[in-house]
Parts: sequence; structure tokens; C-alpha cells
Amino acid sequence: MAGPDLLLATPIPAPLRAALAERFTLHEGDPPPGIRAVVGGGAMKIDAALLARLPALEIVAIHGVGHDRLDLDALDARGICVTTTAGALTEDVADQAIALMLAVQRRVAANDALVRGGGWAAPLGRRASGRRIGIFGLGRIGHAIALRAAPFAGALLYCARAEKPVPWHFVPDIAALAEASEVLILAAPGGPETDRIVDAGVLDRLGPDGVLINIARGSLVDQDALIAALAEQRIAGAGLDVFAQEPNVPEALRTRDTVVLAPHQGSATGEGRAEMRDLVLANLDAHFAGRPLPTPLIRPVSHDARPGR
Ligand code: NAP
Repeated sequence: MAGPDLLLATPIPAPLRAALAERFTLHEGDPPPGIRAVVGGGAMKIDAALLARLPALEIVAIHGVGHDRLDLDALDARGICVTTTAGALTEDVADQAIALMLAVQRRVAANDALVRGGGWAAPLGRRASGRRIGIFGLGRIGHAIALRAAPFAGALLYCARAEKPVPWHFVPDIAALAEASEVLILAAPGGPETDRIVDAGVLDRLGPDGVLINIARGSLVDQDALIAALAEQRIAGAGLDVFAQEPNVPEALRTRDTVVLAPHQGSATGEGRAEMRDLVLANLDAHFAGRPLPTPLIRPVSHDARPGR
């Protein structure tokens, strides 16, 4: 059906694509100048060069919450709205963090492979309860992880840019958080501020009994340093939903049984994906009907006052 021109900037789930095709004229690859909306996942990149080729752009609707590859200042300066699916995936990503944390400590994946291979004699795991758990990033997802982890943590600590009114212990930097934690869970955004913030030094502060869980972005971790720390048993294990160069996962991680791997599945539940699809559509529908946006990340001040938008 003919409708406003919309650019798909990354692959998106088929049900969302089908719903968009009912409302918009979809484009992929080289964009025509009439593009009024862009839709893509959290890995989508929108920089000044792409923006210059989109003179009619009005809205960017992210199917996710990550926006570390969007030039938000340039989008804001152009008065372009940006929306996310905040709220639709928080609980699922928090569940994934807890699942990885338990799976690493109780060797769930390694034992599964053992039994499938006809084996039975397994090495001992580690007690998961009573551990000091540190969460880096206490936003929507980090807070949801904390609520899940608090009942069985020995201590719950967190680091964020600012201290929060929560009952958990604030630690102002990641090295000190790693030092004080036995499990370090990453739940902060990617981008220049957090690029490879988990380096060899932070991993050494986490120490030989420490476990790293990353459901945030692969860019937060110096992956080579992580591989070395795992190989030299300078940390005990890792649970990774995200990687430096997705979908490439180094063999050194794939072959290590103290590591549990997932193909960026944090928000990947049927229920979550349906809610995310509905929110992308609700934001686009609201924008093109001139109604307030349900989940704006950037909403130009004048947006909701503009007739016909
Ligand atoms: P959010 O609500 O914006 O929370 C981000 C948290 O990170 C905030 O507490 C913030 O601190 C903290 N933070 C930001 N920069 C920091 C820094 N330099 N040092 C310390 N703390 C910092 O975001 P969210 O919805 O929880 O999502 C977090 C991230 O998870 C997303 O950006 C995305 O990359 C990732 N994610 C992954 C998946 C997946 O499938 N694995 C799915 C969704 C999201 P303040 O509160 O003090 O500002």
C-alpha cells in the first residue's frame, strides 16, 4: 500500500515488517529523499552523513532502547522525533541477566551438553545465593535486575552516573564495584562513555572467583581482555548476551565451558516482541496523526502542537 516513505535501517521481525507495510511504503538500502520515517533495531546507525540524505525525515522509531549509534544531537537539531520501545523489554532483559548468572554458576549449559552427550559425571558448580552482586547501570533494566537479585544476594551494589534513592549500596566507579562484587552485571548503555570500560584492570579487580554478566552492549567489554582473563582463570566465568562484533563470537569464547553464550536474546520473548511491535506502530501512528508520542526519547518541544503531524 502507498503511504509515507519509511526506511528500514536494520533487519526487523517479520510481524513488524508486515504491519509497517500496511501503513507505509517501505525502503531498504539506498534511501530516496522523500523518507519521512526510519525504523530499525538498537544497532541502527544514523550519523550526519545519512541524515544529510534524508531531508524530509520526521521520526526515527527504534525497535529497542539502545541508541548508542544514533547522533542524537544532530537529530535534535533537525527537530526529528526519536522513539524507543522502553518499558516493553525491561522485564525480559532482566530475566535474561538472572538466567545467565544462574547458568554460569550452576554450569547449566555445560551440564546440558554433558548429559546430551551421554555423560553424567560433572564438575562441581558454585553456590549462586549469598553472593555479592554488583550492577553497572541502575536504569530501567538494572533496577529490574536488582529487584530480582536482592532476595538471594549476600549484598547488592550498583554504579550509575548518580546515586539513587534505593536500599542498595552505591559505588561511584566500575573498578571499585568490580572489587566489591563476586558477580558483576553490566546494564548501562553503549557509547563513548562506556566503551571497553570493562578492561583487564576491572576484570582483575573482579578476581578469580568473579563472574561477569553482560546483557548491555558488547562495546562495554574489552573482549580480548575478557578472553585472556577467562583462559588464565583470572575470572571464574562469564554469561554473555552481547558481543563486540555481532554475530561473530570468537572461538575462544565458544569453546570455553565456564562461559554461557546467547545470541543477543535479551528482549526475545514472544510477548515482549509483540509489545515492542505495538509500541513502534503506536509511536508512528501517533506522529502521523499529530498525537502525543507514547514513548519518546527525543520529542521536539513543538511536536505535539504541530497540526497535521
Ligand atoms: P536506562 O534506563 O537509560 O538506564 C541506563 C543506566 O545506565 C542508568 O542508570 C545510567 O545512570 C547508567 N549509566 C549510563 N552511563 C553511565 C556511565 N557512564 N557510568 C555509569 N552508569 C551509567 O537504560 P535501560 O533501558 O536500562 O537499558 C540499558 C541498556 O541495555 C541499553 O542502553 C541497551 O544498550 C541494553 N539493552 C540490551 C538488550 C539486550 O537484548 N541484551 C535489550 C535492551 C537494552 P543514571 O541513571 O545515573 O543516568
